[in-house]
Amino acid sequence: MNEKTDILRLLPDELTSFITSPPYSQPKFRAGQIFSWLHRGVGFEEMTDLPLSLRSSLADSCVIKTPAVERRLVSEIDGTIKYLLRLCDGNLIEAVYMKYEHGNTLCVSSQVGCRMGCRFCASTKSGRVRDLSASEILGEIIAAERDTGTRISNVVMMGIGEPLDNFDETVRFLRLISAPGGIGIGLRHVSVSTCGIVPRIRDLAKTGLPVTLSISLHAADDKTRSAIMPVNGSYPISELLTACRDWFLTTGRRISFEYTLISGKNDSPEDARRLADVLRRFMNDGGRTLPMHVNLIPLNDVEGTGLSRSSRDSVRRFSDILTSLGITATVRRRLGPDINAACGQLRINSAGNGR
Ligand code: SAH
Repeated sequence: MNEKTDILRLLPDELTSFITSPPYSQPKFRAGQIFSWLHRGVGFEEMTDLPLSLRSSLADSCVIKTPAVERRLVSEIDGTIKYLLRLCDGNLIEAVYMKYEHGNTLCVSSQVGCRMGCRFCASTKSGRVRDLSASEILGEIIAAERDTGTRISNVVMMGIGEPLDNFDETVRFLRLISAPGGIGIGLRHVSVSTCGIVPRIRDLAKTGLPVTLSISLHAADDKTRSAIMPVNGSYPISELLTACRDWFLTTGRRISFEYTLISGKNDSPEDARRLADVLRRFMNDGGRTLPMHVNLIPLNDVEGTGLSRSSRDSVRRFSDILTSLGITATVRRRLGPDINAACGQLRINSAGNGR
């Protein structure tokens, strides 16, 4: 039997050539109808403006890879929802739905597991199982929109996985969500977060997609960074920050730096001063400091890492030092404190460990 077509993965022009070719040989406008139904999470049988025969032949030959909601944890404090989602092959991933004043935001996963090996992160504990397809990443949004009955306007690629280690599907996903007639999420409302795979940061800049780049920096010197993030061995801070500078000069888009505060590892006043210094040195164009923002995130404790979060005082002190040195920094507000499950923990704790 031929493998079924992963129809949700098709970009508008691909869907058009798919549907206008045999065996379907449909008029072009059908592609637009199908694209819009698919992005609204509608199955073939409910695509009421398509001929019945087309609906049934699509159902026979195509698969819609929207994940199913396996478990849902709802915060009673702020309405944040953590989803454990099941993919077609049984693998499990997570997504988090957050309500902000600027719109509903979904934090999506890009891989089943991760191979980057960051010491503090639950998602990477048992390595990478596989990449997600663009349809599965998009499917996370569709599943959350259907489940909540609301529209999602912002996306952060900060769930399980390293988006730039799944580069082609990540770019396809970005093209899908911003294509006319689909789910309609503007790329200015999308953040792509990376641990710092420098060549792929440069490739992403070349695509011209106007996303916000978010860099998981977490340390201001190579010794500290390499001890918690193995990727730093391949792409040290100087190379990473040079790529960030070039990103801004190419795209004109502000960079945001994530800095997870780990007690006794990277949270001293000296670390804060070193961070301000290194950012000002590299994020600089002829004496002008480039626009950037630092998000400070108190570590979510992950069992077995031996690492713990910084005290409130250290966080405040760190933030104050950055601000006094001219670096804008905010301490990330913790949403859903009553359903605390740091990124990747739901999946790890569920039976079967992701399979
Ligand atoms: N791989 C990408 C995106 C996924 S992680 C990246 O590295 O950016 C999303 C963010 O959560 C990253 O900044 C990551 O470093 C951070 N993170 C991972 N584990 C964490 C933990 N236990 N506590 C706080 N932040 C964590």
